[in-house]
Amino acid sequence: MVSEDIQAGEKGGQAEAKRGQAGDKGGTALVIGGGPAGLMAAEVLAGAGLSVLVADRMPSLARKLLMAGKSGLNLTKAEPLTPMLRAYGESGDWLRPMLRAFGADQVQAWARGLGQELFIGSTGRVFPRVMKASPLLRAWLRRLDEAGVEVATRWTWRGWDGAQVLFDTPEGPLRLAPTVTVLALGGGSWARLGSDGAWAEHLEGVAPFAPSNCGFRRSWSDHMAGHFGQPVKAVTLRAGGHESRGEFVISRGGIEGGGIYALSAALREGAALVVDLFPDTAAGALAEKIDRLRKGESAGNRLRKLGLDAVKRALVMEVLRPLPGGGAELAHALKALPLALDGPQEMDRAISTAGGLTRAAVDEGLMLRARPGTFAAGEMLDWDAPTGGYLLTACLATGLWAGRAAADYALADAPASIAFSEATARR
Ligand SMILES: Cc1cc2nc3c(=O)[nH]c(=O)nc-3n(C[C@H](O)[C@H](O)[C@H](O)COP(=O)(O)OP(=O)(O)OC[C@H]3O[C@@H](n4cnc5c(N)ncnc54)[C@H](O)[C@@H]3O)c2cc1C
Repeated sequence: MVSEDIQAGEKGGQAEAKRGQAGDKGGTALVIGGGPAGLMAAEVLAGAGLSVLVADRMPSLARKLLMAGKSGLNLTKAEPLTPMLRAYGESGDWLRPMLRAFGADQVQAWARGLGQELFIGSTGRVFPRVMKASPLLRAWLRRLDEAGVEVATRWTWRGWDGAQVLFDTPEGPLRLAPTVTVLALGGGSWARLGSDGAWAEHLEGVAPFAPSNCGFRRSWSDHMAGHFGQPVKAVTLRAGGHESRGEFVISRGGIEGGGIYALSAALREGAALVVDLFPDTAAGALAEKIDRLRKGESAGNRLRKLGLDAVKRALVMEVLRPLPGGGAELAHALKALPLALDGPQEMDRAISTAGGLTRAAVDEGLMLRARPGTFAAGEMLDWDAPTGGYLLTACLATGLWAGRAAADYALADAPASIAFSEATARR
């Protein structure tokens, strides 16, 4: 369809006919990046009556969303706005109006509207019952198609030449001049799924990317090798005044998993990590229990009798050996086991990235101050949050917000509608 438009543009007469249908309420909207943020923006723009094209560099859309579904698609967190905003740290204030417009309740209603039965886990995390993302994405793409949204894949955005948006496509370089553009290009991790962060070179006001929700490096002694891949369950992790209750996994290169991801911002800044292996037992009570153990017991036996499983015992021995003799000292160490780390794992393996287009670079409607008519949404904006559904929620909320603002801009300011076909010319 898009290529037909391009040809029509070259033929002139058909472009006239198309122009009337394509943007008869106010012009054309180009969405670059077909992840959750871009698709949400596209839906809003189409709903406002604009002619919408979603362009993506990959052969198919929303690959990271599909990957997210592989480990259980955590759509949002069922909690009120105030605690939800806290998860976004300093960016909570920026995101407040967007999450008020599209927060936990709206995400759930949206997913149900796409035919997904949902369930809420004990910690408030919301998942589709099927856990994966593919049925939701299929239904969403069908709905977008019915709304007239066009899709161009294998189109890589290459910045601008004046007002024209530049792409490399399989057919060669291409230029478009849409009425409004929404950039939803993702963060800087998992490049093989499409979001490589290379877009940053084309924009002003981009804070450097940093890995977030990522594992951390640590060298283990040989005796830990038998525990690689094993979870350390039901612990509380503390770093830099933050704490996270959950589990983490011992990996060959260090530690990974939800409990650690939640602290990645603090750990990235160099905060020390301590692990409470007995989060439900007070230090005093634990010390008494230790003192009741038979004297002369081996270290391993003492730890086993305290209820620690094999991986926790190995971790304690790795970090504490030789164990402190007195009950009080050992209890203290088991409730604040210091786990030295050597920094974050490589950024490409991170679930998400901090950094991106800063708050100062956009206005209240997420329009680029340096380029009126161009908006930005999703993980490419400079906010950060732990896993727990917060990432997708903010991607959807900012996609909706940017889409609405772009539609308002197009409907208020657009000159007489310009179909893509008219503005498109091959070099
Ligand atoms: C393993 C994994 C598990 C996850 N699990 C969860 C979870 O359970 N819950 C949760 O909330 N979040 C989760 N996330 C994070 C979540 O998937 C992302 O935050 C979200 O997909 C970001 O959405 P987005 O639309 O901003 O960007 P993306 O989904 O990254 O989409 C950006 C799109 O832009 C395209 N693009 C980039 N550059 C160009 C260019 N130059 N030209 C054209 N197109 C371009 C890309 O191809 C891509 O399709 C997970 C992430 C990973 C990696």
